Amino acid sequence: CGIVGYVGHRQALDVVVDGLRRLEYRGYDSAGVAVLTGPGSLAVERKAGRLANLENRLDEVGRGGFAGTAGMGHTRWATHGPPVDRNAHPHRDATQRVAVVHNGIIENFAALRAELEADGVELTSDTDTETVAHLVGRAYAEGPAKGDLPACLRAVCQRLSGAFTLVVTHVDEPDTIVAARRSSPLVVGVGEGETFVASDVAAFIEYTRDAVELGQDQVVTISRDGYHVTDLAGAQAPTRPFHVDWDL
Ligand code: GLU
Repeated sequence: CGIVGYVGHRQALDVVVDGLRRLEYRGYDSAGVAVLTGPGSLAVERKAGRLANLENRLDEVGRGGFAGTAGMGHTRWATHGPPVDRNAHPHRDATQRVAVVHNGIIENFAALRAELEADGVELTSDTDTETVAHLVGRAYAEGPAKGDLPACLRAVCQRLSGAFTLVVTHVDEPDTIVAARRSSPLVVGVGEGETFVASDVAAFIEYTRDAVELGQDQVVTISRDGYHVTDLAGAQAPTRPFHVDWDL
C-alpha cells in the first residue's frame, strides 16, 4: 500500500499515477486519485484491482477532467471492508469538499462512526478511513479550527487511535495538501516550485532527491513553495532533512 501527494507546476495526475506505479511493489488491492481541478472543484476516481484498472477508468472518463497541479493518490491494502470500488480511497465527506487517503488502521473508528451516524451522517463505505473525511469536513465548516485545514487535521488526529498516514485536501484550499503520520511512514520531497509527500521516497525520486522524514505525530502542510511541519498542538516541529544519494 502507498500514498503520494503533490503540489507544483506539473499535471498532478501524471505525477501521482507515476508515483503509485513506483509504490506498487508494496502490494495493494485497489487504487485511487484525487486532483484539485480549480477553486471549489475536486475530481476523484478509484477502482478495485490493479493500477491498470484505475488507468483504464481514467481513459474512459477522460483525463481532461483531471487537469490541475495539486492532487494525491493511494494504493489500498484493505483492513476494514472488502476490496471493492466503494471502499477504495480517496474518501470524501458528505459535502464532497474534502478528500482523504489513508494507510493504516483507525482503531477507534467504530465509536467515531457511531457518533457521526447519531448526528445524521450517512457513511457510504465500510472503511475506518471514511470517518476521518467526515470529521475533517465538519471541523473545517464549524468550530475552533474553522477554515484552517492543518488545524482541522491536527484536531482530528488527536481523536484517533491506531496507526496512520493521512493525506487531506479541501476544495477551498486548491494549492495546499496536508498530511499527518503516527506509526506509519511519511516523507516530504522538496523540489523547485513543487513539493511531494509519500510513504516512500521511491514515489518522487525521479523529481527530487531532497527529502524530509516526518516524526511521530507530526503534521505537514505542503505548497508549491515548500513545507511546514508542526506537532499535533500546532507548534513548529523539528524535522530531519536528508539527501537521497542511493539509486532505486
Ligand atoms: N484501513 C484502511 C482501509 O481498509 C486503509 C488500509 C491501507 O492501509 O491501505 O481502507
